[in-house]
Amino acid sequence: MTRYAVPPMKIPAIEIADSTDLFPVHRIYCVGCNYAEHVREMGSDPDREPPFFFMKPSSAILSSRADFPYPSKSENVHFEVELVVAIGKGGKNISQSDANNHVFGYACGLDMTRRDLQGEMKKKSRPWEISKAFEASAPCGEICPASKIGHPSAGTIWLKVNGEIKQEGNISNLIWNIPEIIEHLSGLFELRPGDLIFTGTPAGVGPIVTGDIMEGCIDGVGTITTNVV
Ligand code: MN
Repeated sequence: MTRYAVPPMKIPAIEIADSTDLFPVHRIYCVGCNYAEHVREMGSDPDREPPFFFMKPSSAILSSRADFPYPSKSENVHFEVELVVAIGKGGKNISQSDANNHVFGYACGLDMTRRDLQGEMKKKSRPWEISKAFEASAPCGEICPASKIGHPSAGTIWLKVNGEIKQEGNISNLIWNIPEIIEHLSGLFELRPGDLIFTGTPAGVGPIVTGDIMEGCIDGVGTITTNVV
């Protein structure tokens, strides 16, 4: 029997809608700049800046209905509501036409961001981890299996804070759609079952404070609710 010198990591997992099974999380990929209106609000030109990838550790997952602990060292923590793709079957160099066969399901997630630290890192052309990869930075609602809901290509995506609408868009407005993301990402990394892809956020991102309630929803996919503590 293998003995580990320190306690091994517990596998992070997300609930699956109408099931007692859990979805084990392997890696978390995130797409930046994937809705034109959001690219503009961040001060860039969507025609000149193609989407790109960054990552969070799997331990950053916060499962549905858990509280979001406001992170240290930031005065400006932002929500970004996103469609999350859960990979069920791995592969390299997956074509767009085959991409859906690799998807287990979809969820509504939040790419929580220390915006002040991200700004400093951008200015210095440094990596983004301190702004994106902190504990609990990836709240994610229940996964809806594609076997039940199909492969959504349109639907309203919104986020409310304390009942007030802050972000609203439609997943049909993704600059790169899901098959395109899977084709591109699987050319860079061998995708594995358990990988998640946060596909980018629509316009309207903004700050939260302790005591706020964040509620996200993607029509036909799912919801997420978390309290900032
Ligand atoms: Mn994001």
